[in-house]
Amino acid sequence: MPSEGQSADARPAPSYRAFCPVCNTSGRRFSSYGSAEHVAQGHADKYGHPTHVIDQYGIRVVGSDRTPGR
Ligand SMILES: [Zn+2]
Repeated sequence: MPSEGQSADARPAPSYRAFCPVCNTSGRRFSSYGSAEHVAQGHADKYGHPTHVIDQYGIRVVGSDRTPGR
């Protein structure tokens, strides 16, 4: 595995997306974590699915879990 932060030309800008493992879909990409979290919460409330936020690498953001009704 390549080490992080070593390549100047392959560093994606930070972006965040809401991800629902129940639907196996992700929302639109945001540069702001808060916007993605808001979408995740909206999906959780609308569909009753626990969701979370993933970053530009598709990695789940720690503490981003959204559950219905919060
Ligand atoms: Zn869903």
